[in-house]
Amino acid sequence: MTRGFSTSRRLALGFGALVALIASASAVALAGSARVHDGLNETRRREEGVRLSLELASAVRDQYAHQAHTIIIGDASHLGFYGEARETVARLTRALRQAAERPEERALVDSIEQESQRLDGIFRERIVPAVLRGDRAHVQEEHGRAQLSVTRIQDLTQALVERFEASIRAVRRDLAEVERRTRTFLVALLVAAPLVAIAVSVVIGRSIAAPVARLEAGAARMAAGDLDTRLDVRGAPELEELARRWNDMTAALKGHQERLVESEKLAGIGRLAAGVAHEINNPLGVILGYAKLLRRKCDGSTAADLAVVEEETLRAKEIVDGLLDLSRPLPAGAGDVDLRALSDEVVSRLAEARLLDGVAVKVDGRASAPGHPEKLRQVLVNLVRNAAEAAGSGGTVEVRLAERDGLAEVAVEDSGPGLPPDGRDRLFEPFFTTKPRGTGLGLAVSRAIARAHGGDLAAVGAPAGGARFTLELPRRTGGEA
Ligand code: ADP
Repeated sequence: MTRGFSTSRRLALGFGALVALIASASAVALAGSARVHDGLNETRRREEGVRLSLELASAVRDQYAHQAHTIIIGDASHLGFYGEARETVARLTRALRQAAERPEERALVDSIEQESQRLDGIFRERIVPAVLRGDRAHVQEEHGRAQLSVTRIQDLTQALVERFEASIRAVRRDLAEVERRTRTFLVALLVAAPLVAIAVSVVIGRSIAAPVARLEAGAARMAAGDLDTRLDVRGAPELEELARRWNDMTAALKGHQERLVESEKLAGIGRLAAGVAHEINNPLGVILGYAKLLRRKCDGSTAADLAVVEEETLRAKEIVDGLLDLSRPLPAGAGDVDLRALSDEVVSRLAEARLLDGVAVKVDGRASAPGHPEKLRQVLVNLVRNAAEAAGSGGTVEVRLAERDGLAEVAVEDSGPGLPPDGRDRLFEPFFTTKPRGTGLGLAVSRAIARAHGGDLAAVGAPAGGARFTLELPRRTGGEA
């Protein structure tokens, strides 16, 4: 589980990318609308500034009109109206100061205010006293100054109006740009979202749906009976792991099936053998008895022929006994068997029977396991005998015993020619033999006995060139007595 992202991370990344796109689209739209809202408010304040400037210009003209009236009438009767007009100008100037947000606008309002105070000062301090004195020449002179001041105030308010209008135009241009940018961005996101969605579904499809489809196809092949099927799945790590487990399971199932077929085959042979063994054994016994009897009475070539009859009858009995071994269940109850002692005993019996002549046999190590001594002796006899036959005169046979991982192991290794290349897979099949007078039952019976003990018997080529057969038996665990 080391390669690539897990399915949940892939899904989170895919959907996360989509959500991020949608979130940025919403953020851009929100930011755009906030900017437009601010811009509209600013425009409204600037328009209010324009209105106030125009109103102020008109109020100053009004103020001047009241000054002119006082000059024309020549007394102080109009001063009350003048005071109101002056008050209106002062109020509008204050309001305009609120609307002027930028320094240059405030500077203009300051100038308007100063000029307006100057105009008021000219009127109150110079024109009104001159009017009341009747000093026309002085009135004329100051009136000219007042006119100049009014013109300056008109110019200043006009400049302020132009500033406000310029900033309104700038805000509108800015808003148009914001609107254009927001629209472009949203269109790009709307185009990108389906593309990202397609990419996400392709990636998820590749890493999840396609491997699942391959798993499904593999399951179908397996259901159709193809146990050699192997899945090569690339994609999400969990699915790769699932495919690996699936392959392990199929291999194990195939192994079990092969064992089942094998044991069914052995059981079939056993049932057949058990059925006929009794019938065959009796006539064989009779033939053997008569052959022995006749051989004693005869001599010469007839005795030699009868010896052959006797020998072949014994071989036939051996085959029948082997077949019966395949079918007989193990006797109940099993004590611990000292496999070292059993191996030594087997070697010395075979030596006594002159079956190990010329072969150097060595037994090494120790091991014990619960089992049936007679049955296990039969296995060891078969293995050591086969090894000695393969090693031949001048050869060596080594029986090595060991205990590891809850198993007792007996390895029988010889210096012979090694396993027959074309029969490696068939060694344990009943009746498979490469020997002219072999029965082909020794290894089949031995493996059946090993498996009946919960263990196994396997063959490998020995590193030195000969053959090695390993018998494995489960040892008694702590809880068992
Ligand atoms: P048999 O000994 O009657 O042939 P087995 O079942 O004991 O029957 O052996 C089957 C075959 O396995 C033998 O004929 C031989 O070809 C092969 N075989 C068994 N043991 C060895 C060995 N130690 N070295 C090489 N081949 C062996």
